[in-house]
Amino acid sequence: MSNRIPWDQYFLAQSLMLSMRSTCQRLMVGAVIVRDKRIISGGYNGSVSGEVHCLDEGCYMEDGHCVRTIHAEMNALLQCAKFGAPTAGAEIYVSHFPCLQCSKAIIQAGISKIYYLYNYHNHPYALHLLDQAGIAYQEVQLEEGFFKEVGQQHQKNLKQTD
Ligand SMILES: [Zn+2]
Ligand SMILES: [Zn+2]
Repeated sequence: MSNRIPWDQYFLAQSLMLSMRSTCQRLMVGAVIVRDKRIISGGYNGSVSGEVHCLDEGCYMEDGHCVRTIHAEMNALLQCAKFGAPTAGAEIYVSHFPCLQCSKAIIQAGISKIYYLYNYHNHPYALHLLDQAGIAYQEVQLEEGFFKEVGQQHQKNLKQTD
């Protein structure tokens, strides 16, 4: 087994997995915060704890935006706050490029780099602030091969245990 999945693929795949837990279908986003190659936190687009879900009750729309949900990046950062995990120098892996508000929070939390899969209305002011703060942001493509391979390996394992 020499073909180990690279870290960026590994963490971005996790962000996609988390996005599948989103409770607002307007946009399914996932984020993981990583320090020293360890996931310290994760989040997805969802309501405040205890609140109804957009999926069940419909979105709470204001000025063309759903205001019910907390964004994935914000949820991941707040989980660090809640449980006391430092975010200074950590990296964030997100399915979609962060919005302006999340970009500001990411900068202020001391995150050092953003990896993302999809460009999404990349706000010019967010880009300006990130550049000014010296925070790198890197678009990454998922390499299908790794995920095909794990699927095939899984099939093989299933056959062996029959
Ligand atoms: Zn919604
Ligand atoms: Zn956001």
